[in-house]
Amino acid sequence: MTTSKFDFDLIIIGAGYGGFDAAKHASEKGLKVAIVESRDMGGTCVNKGCVPSKALLAASGKVREIANHEHLSKLGIHTSPVRFERSKIADHANNLVLNIRENLTKTLTRSGVEIIRGVGRIEGHQRVGVRDKNGIDKIFKCENTIIATGSSPFVPKGIEIDHKTVFTSDEAVKLDWLPRWIAIIGSGYIGLEFADVYTALGCEVTMIEALKNIMPTFDPDITKIAKKNLIQSRDIETKSNVFATKVTPGCPVNIELTDPQSRKIVEKLEVDAVLVATGRSPNSDGLNLEKLKVETMKGFIPIDNKMRVKSGNEIVPNLWAVGDVTGKLMLAHTAAAQGTIAVENICGHEKELNYLSIPAATFTHPEISSVGLSENDAKELAAKEKFNLGVVKSYFKANSKALAELESDGMLKLIFNKDNGHVLGAHIFGLHAADLIQEIANAISREQDVSTLSMEVHTHPTLSEVVEVAYKQAAQQIS
Ligand SMILES: Cc1cc2nc3c(=O)[nH]c(=O)nc-3n(C[C@H](O)[C@H](O)[C@H](O)COP(=O)(O)OP(=O)(O)OC[C@H]3O[C@@H](n4cnc5c(N)ncnc54)[C@H](O)[C@@H]3O)c2cc1C
Repeated sequence: MTTSKFDFDLIIIGAGYGGFDAAKHASEKGLKVAIVESRDMGGTCVNKGCVPSKALLAASGKVREIANHEHLSKLGIHTSPVRFERSKIADHANNLVLNIRENLTKTLTRSGVEIIRGVGRIEGHQRVGVRDKNGIDKIFKCENTIIATGSSPFVPKGIEIDHKTVFTSDEAVKLDWLPRWIAIIGSGYIGLEFADVYTALGCEVTMIEALKNIMPTFDPDITKIAKKNLIQSRDIETKSNVFATKVTPGCPVNIELTDPQSRKIVEKLEVDAVLVATGRSPNSDGLNLEKLKVETMKGFIPIDNKMRVKSGNEIVPNLWAVGDVTGKLMLAHTAAAQGTIAVENICGHEKELNYLSIPAATFTHPEISSVGLSENDAKELAAKEKFNLGVVKSYFKANSKALAELESDGMLKLIFNKDNGHVLGAHIFGLHAADLIQEIANAISREQDVSTLSMEVHTHPTLSEVVEVAYKQAAQQIS
């Protein structure tokens, strides 16, 4: 497909999950593809995100389970005190990273994708510049360019990182040591997952949240039940509505907490370590986007639903962006889906992504998951579009499988349009919530209605019957 005018049909800058999926899909479509990577192949997800954090959660989750004598004794099981080796848990995470990174690199090479090592940038329309680690600079001509440069941990002003006693998730995934007392700044999904790991391994946690309530990004009903299970029943102290305005590394680490209204220091803490989990910033500096008159929004690259980069209201020809750098639902599967959609459009097949059908999960024990609209956003939409809104709740305590596991504290909230039965959103806390949400995400993507869904047969006894019960309750409310 390449004409002599171009070195490549497509150059992708960044080999994270978004770049990887785009490259693989494009080469399967017959395009001549190159991918530019300045650090480790696989990006955040493989090296510092999903993969190592889930490995740590898997191992520490087993420790938690075996150490829960009260729960086990109700099943007639008696265990001796659990022993674990921190370094072997860390090795498990690290080996998984190496394994997945190697497989991903091999997959790209086998697909015929050229891997170019170095820092990529835009050099003009259909031009990408790459500087390698020796400072050698090359400029490539390509018909299309996808920017997939991802994101990095955001560290608020006043917090000093030394990567040992004060660190971000980049270091936490290595589990180099277990502090006796660790403060986690931020109660989003990353903060919650690490609180799960650290408490399972015997650390005391203080969770600091700047907003009024802990877990501010989750559904309020889900937060109530999640808080009881994931925070109150564990060695976790919470402090909300306070800013960590100064964090000084050392032994101990000193933290100053400031009241957001009076701006006065209200508390000082001395802890062994601090994990900063206050969100992520886009990697867009140095991309030379000005060359094509692209203005970022707080660093995020503006795109339309086809992943075409925008300059004001205009589309920049032959330039696409996917993944965290676009700031849309910053998750690995979003990045991958965006990558595929971008390639489809490059190949002339018009495709758009429905972000409302993309699920999100927090892999705590038990898990939290969601898809689609929050209850508040659904209320606003119902008022605007004048339809009747339905909300039903289905409980794990009525589910035989959850009862058999003696893990029946859980809830599913289903939000739907009562007029046409379409599912608008769902929020789950409970055993395997991350797996359960997929069925509802698919229903949103296919625009199925709850009356049809309520007739689908679910295996008994499985947790999926929690979803079936919700669909059946919702179907009863359809006029
Ligand atoms: C602790 C943690 C846990 C997570 N857990 C999950 C999870 O369970 N599920 C989930 O879906 N998501 C999870 N995420 C989020 C997920 O990792 C990201 O959403 C995903 O990695 C985004 O992919 P991306 O391709 O957009 O960017 P990235 O994965 O960040 O990749 C971008 C790549 O571009 C490279 N790059 C940047 N600039 C340049 C340049 N100029 N030239 C060349 N290369 C460049 C970078 O080195 C990097 O390799 C987690 C994140 C963290 C931090």
